[in-house]
Amino acid sequence: MNNNVVGFPRVGKLRELKFISEKYFRGEVNEQELQQVAKDLRAEHWKFQKSAGIHWIPSNDFSFYDGVLDTAVLLNVIPKKYQQLQLGETDTYFAMARGYQGEAGDVPALAMKKWFNTNYHYLVPEISDDTEIKLVGEKPFLEYQEAKQFGIQTKPVLVGPFTFLKLAKYQGTKKAEDFAGDLAKAYAEALKKLGDLGAEWIQLDEPALVQDLSAEDFELFYELYQEILAAKGTVKVLLQTYFGDIRDYYKEIVTLDFDGIGLDFVEGKQSLSLVQKYGLPKNKVLFAGLVNGKNIWKSNYETVLGALEELKAYASEIVLSTSCSLLHVPYTLQNETSLEPEVEQYFAFALEKLQELKELSVLTETDDYKVEKEYLENKELFAKERLYQNDDIKKQVADLKEEEFVRLPLRKERQKLQKEALNLPLFPTTTIGSFPQTIEVKKNRTAYRKGEIDKNAYDNRVYEFIKDCIAKQEELGIDVLVHGEYERNDMVEFFGENLEGYVFTEKAWVQSYGTRCVKPPIIFGDVKRSKPITTSYLEYAQRLTDLPVKGMLTGPVTILNWSFPREDISLKEMAYQIGIAIRSEVLDLEKAGIKIIQIDEAALKEKLPIRKSDWYSEYLDWAIPAFRLCHSGVKPETQIHTHMCYSEFNEIIHDIDNMDADVISFEASRSKLTILDAIQESNFETEVGPGVYDIHSPRVPSVEEIVEALKTMLEKIDVNKLWVNPDCGLKTRGIPETEASLKNLVQAAKILREQY
Ligand code: GLN
Ligand code: ZN
Repeated sequence: MNNNVVGFPRVGKLRELKFISEKYFRGEVNEQELQQVAKDLRAEHWKFQKSAGIHWIPSNDFSFYDGVLDTAVLLNVIPKKYQQLQLGETDTYFAMARGYQGEAGDVPALAMKKWFNTNYHYLVPEISDDTEIKLVGEKPFLEYQEAKQFGIQTKPVLVGPFTFLKLAKYQGTKKAEDFAGDLAKAYAEALKKLGDLGAEWIQLDEPALVQDLSAEDFELFYELYQEILAAKGTVKVLLQTYFGDIRDYYKEIVTLDFDGIGLDFVEGKQSLSLVQKYGLPKNKVLFAGLVNGKNIWKSNYETVLGALEELKAYASEIVLSTSCSLLHVPYTLQNETSLEPEVEQYFAFALEKLQELKELSVLTETDDYKVEKEYLENKELFAKERLYQNDDIKKQVADLKEEEFVRLPLRKERQKLQKEALNLPLFPTTTIGSFPQTIEVKKNRTAYRKGEIDKNAYDNRVYEFIKDCIAKQEELGIDVLVHGEYERNDMVEFFGENLEGYVFTEKAWVQSYGTRCVKPPIIFGDVKRSKPITTSYLEYAQRLTDLPVKGMLTGPVTILNWSFPREDISLKEMAYQIGIAIRSEVLDLEKAGIKIIQIDEAALKEKLPIRKSDWYSEYLDWAIPAFRLCHSGVKPETQIHTHMCYSEFNEIIHDIDNMDADVISFEASRSKLTILDAIQESNFETEVGPGVYDIHSPRVPSVEEIVEALKTMLEKIDVNKLWVNPDCGLKTRGIPETEASLKNLVQAAKILREQY
């Protein structure tokens, strides 16, 4: 059986692309040097795949920033504001990606959005009424030829026209369907050109097909492809889907004139049953996405080979494939030096997944794969007991009772008791947790990491930072203080490092957007808290002041969503394990005299399933309870806060209220109005702190501006329920603007108090 790779990571084993791009942005290297590194990386990636025995190797999966942006540029979807800068091709591209500020003008970047349910972000194409879609770029053609020069036949990959139109933002009165004709022509032309250059297969990525589709959506898809497929000539077209199944229009889609259909059998819950029910027309190749492109675990050969056997009955030709692009996993295990062998043997990053594809395809050709060495070894690995198993925590999860998810008394009553106990003024002021991570703070951490100072010396320094931070907040006149989070550099990594069951990598970076990469920790085993994590810092901070200091924790759903999860137990089980750990931490903080505890769920919405019909059954039904589990055990007077980094939760507003926190803060500078309406209409019970200024910019908001923002909020929010705070943590800001902004914020709250 042949095998296929949907896409390969671009940044390089050691993030070479990131570093050269950043040098280019700073003007330290010229374009030629930048292009050379990119070219070397592409060559390396193709050669890796070739020598690993991959049959369908992608090209044009490389990108300097993002594939959707590449597609926009290819198709002349370049807004005028960028063209007018007259910057030349590469710099126009980067201006769209990153914004431009300089001699030629001042233009912000295109909007950036999360790529479906991943942590990768794409740039949103902007289409206006006068946008003239046509094929103007060369990238796919050049890269195809580049690979060919190495004797490597590749499969050029393009973001499909349907997904492109669905993701774009329309500035004028024209809608997606008004551009379908021109777009189809451009794709038809690209296909023809690639065919003429010698390409045999083209992959068109259409992940938008795994969303809920309306009849109009399908009509648009149909219209686009009628035209494109009629003009494809000799070249074969693979329709590639991923991140889910195509249940809405499977039957109709597979009967169109595609030569191959790529389905995701990992995340596509219904992919197998759809194939079983409706089959696949004889003349089509099924690209079976069975090797997970999104997680770092080795494949279970028994499962993959079993599925392939099953599929044979329904498809005349099958190619074994990754479930999606390998962009979402780190490069290779080769650079990891500190993983225990007992742990590492379960992992496969991108390069190791190539080996798996190869090994699995060879196994399909043996007389009986069940007696082959590779198969048996894999089977043994999956059968044996793993490290970091903990029966005690498993039992705790199994024994969880209804009442542990319910906090009593009811919130309305608690809110009264808390008002008395805390004695806060109207419009209490607070911050989201972190204070600026200054050079001194970072130096302290680096010195500790390098072993130059011991834990004691490190903590002593942290205590000094806390002391200054408390004094500063008292001086500013803030009502609910924080300790500043100087002991952590990352809100998930810090907790991971203090929980059993987590493992960490050194070089396992994954692209998040552009040159920004993240290194998610891995949940390897059962998660357990063996000792208090934050109490010593909070206890110390609270001793310094009579004002309440807010304890600061990260919630279970966010910890889970920003980690690589296990595949041997459910997300729900992991969330509950982490929930139990955070619950113990909450109770310890309470015991230590902390009266207000914030449990951040910055990433709660990130993994909301792509399809609405799956929201509850696959996610919210355990995610919200996991949060409630953390705080249901506290006294009525203890005030629980949560924080989210966005306010686009109109659609799940009842679920947010159902987290049963006493107070929630969130970003509200951009979409504030609609969320305020939703809060009012839903009789939202949680007290709210919609961010009164944007911390992502160094700009200092004026007192008047903050008063104005608060007044707007008060049109929809009860006077007794409004908090005054910035929209997120202050760790990325400098000290001067932070102090100036907070001073104005406190002043604004005072002015408002006089008026109400
Ligand atoms: N408490 C965290 C902080 O202030 C929250 C960060 C976040 O929302 N991403 O930094
Ligand atoms: Zn935030």
